[in-house]
Amino acid sequence: MFLFRTVKFRSSSFLTTYKMCSHFSFSKNKTFINGKWVSAKDGKEFPVYNPADGSIVANVPDCTVSELNEAIEGSYDAFKTWKNTTAKERSAILRRLFDLQMKYKDDLARILTLEAGKSLAESVGEISYGASFFEWFSEEARRIYGDIVPSPVKSRQMFFYKQPVGVAGIITPWNFPNAMITRKVGAALAAGCTCVIKPAEDTPLSALAIAQLAEEAKVPPGVINVVTSSRNNTPAIGKGMCEHLKVATISFTGSTAVGKLLLEHSAPFVKRVSLELGGNAPFIVFNSANVSKAVAGAMASKFRNSGQTCVCTNRILVQEDVYDEFCKELTKVMQNQLVVGNGMDSNVTVGPLINENAVKKVNSHVEDALQKGAKLILGGKPHSTGKTFFEPTLLTDIKQNMLICKEETFGPVAGVMKFKSEEEAIEIANSTRSGLAGYFYSEDVSQIWRVAQALEVGMDLIKLNSRIYLNPKGFHVTLR
Ligand code: NAP
Repeated sequence: MFLFRTVKFRSSSFLTTYKMCSHFSFSKNKTFINGKWVSAKDGKEFPVYNPADGSIVANVPDCTVSELNEAIEGSYDAFKTWKNTTAKERSAILRRLFDLQMKYKDDLARILTLEAGKSLAESVGEISYGASFFEWFSEEARRIYGDIVPSPVKSRQMFFYKQPVGVAGIITPWNFPNAMITRKVGAALAAGCTCVIKPAEDTPLSALAIAQLAEEAKVPPGVINVVTSSRNNTPAIGKGMCEHLKVATISFTGSTAVGKLLLEHSAPFVKRVSLELGGNAPFIVFNSANVSKAVAGAMASKFRNSGQTCVCTNRILVQEDVYDEFCKELTKVMQNQLVVGNGMDSNVTVGPLINENAVKKVNSHVEDALQKGAKLILGGKPHSTGKTFFEPTLLTDIKQNMLICKEETFGPVAGVMKFKSEEEAIEIANSTRSGLAGYFYSEDVSQIWRVAQALEVGMDLIKLNSRIYLNPKGFHVTLR
C-alpha cells in the first residue's frame, strides 16, 4: 500500500519518508463520507504542500456544499443507530481508536510533519496527546451519569438524564491537525453523537488518516465523516454546516475572526456552538523568580511548533531587577538551542511556518515593533532556508501599542517588556480579550497565589467538549 498517489519527489529524504509512511493509504486521492472513500462530484482536487520545501505531498478532493450535505445526511442516519449503542460499546470503539493511534504513532507523526512542518519530535508528541483524548473519552463514555434532585413537591420526583444532541459539525485548524480532531471526535462519539469534520486546507491528511483508523476500529459508516476543501470552498461549507437543520452543534477551533462568523451563521438557528479561539498569552517573570527556570519556560512556551500554538507565549513581561539578566540569558539559550530547518531532520527545533502568508504576518509584527522603538537583539527577518522560514527573533523594550502585544504573532518571535510592580504586570497581562493561557515565574508563595487568581486566563476544556455534545433533559414525574 502506498501513502499518496500524486507525489512530486524533491529530495531523497522525502522519498524515504514516503516509503516509511506506508500504513496509510489515501487511495486515489479520496475523502471519507458515509463509510466510503469518495471524490468530489465535480472531480476537483487541491494540492497539499509540504511547507518545508513547497513540494506537493498529495492531492485531495475539493469538496463543495454538495458533498457536505451528503456527509450530513449520512451522519444523521448513522446517529439514529449510534445513539442507541451502549456506553460499553462506544467505550470499546474509542479504546480501539486509541490503541490504533498509538500503534501507528510514528507513521501519523510523519504525515503531520509532512503537511504541517512541525519538528518530528513535536509531531510524535502531538500524536500521543491526540490519542490521549480517545483514551480519556473511552473511559468517560461509561460515566455519563444523570442526577436525581430532591423535589420541592411531595407528589413528584425530579431526575435528569443526558442524551446525545445529534450530528456535530467539527471545524479544525492546521496547527494541531490530529489532536484538535481527536479532542472533539472523542467527546462526540462518547456522548453518542456522530460527526462531520472539516479539516484545514493546509492539513487534511491527518484527518484522513484518522478516518482510516476509524474504519479499522470498526466505527460504523457515517459516524465519522471528513469533508476536505480548499480555502475557496471553505466559507460556503462553514455556512452550510451552521445552517443545516440536521447539524445539532458546531465545534470550532481556530481564529477569533472565523469563530465570530460561525456564531453569526448559527445564531438564526439558535444552534449550540463551542468555540476555542486565539490567544495572546502573557509570560511574567517577577523579581523573585529563578531566572534560569524562567528562561527554560519561555523557550518551551514560545518556540513550540515554531511559535504557532494558541497557548504560545505572546508577550514576555519581566520585572525591572531581573530584566537585563533574563534578556541576556534568553539570548544565549536561543542562540544555542534553536535549530532552523526541515522538521524531518532530527536535530531541527524550529520548522517552517505553515505558509508564506504566515511569514508575511510575522515580518509585519517585527517591522511594526522596530518602527515603534523595540530593540532587535536576534534575527528579525525571513530565514534564508526558504520562503516559509523565519529567523528566531528576540526583541526587547516592546510596548503595548505594538502589534506584537495586540495580536497573536504566531511565529518564532519573542518580545520582552519591562515592568515595575505586580499590579502593573497584572493590568498589562489582562489587557486583552484573548485570555486563553498565561504563565508566570515567582518564588514568593504569597505572590504565586495572588497572581494565579488575578490572571484572567484559562480554559475549561474537557467539560466544555463534553457539555456541548450532551443535551441534559429534565423530567418532572408525577406520582399517582
Ligand atoms: P482559521 O483561519 O480560523 O481556520 C481554522 C479552521 O476554520 C480551518 O479549518 C479553516 O479552513 C476554517 N475556516 C476558515 N474560514 C472559515 C469560514 N468562513 N467558515 C468556516 N470555516 C472556516 O485559523 P487557523 O489559522 O487555521 O488556526 C490558527 C488559529 O487557531 C489561531 O488563532 C490559534 O490560536 C487558534 N487555535 C486555538 C486553539 C484553542 O484550543 N483555543 C487551538 C489551536 C488553535 P481553511 O483552512 O480551509 O481556511
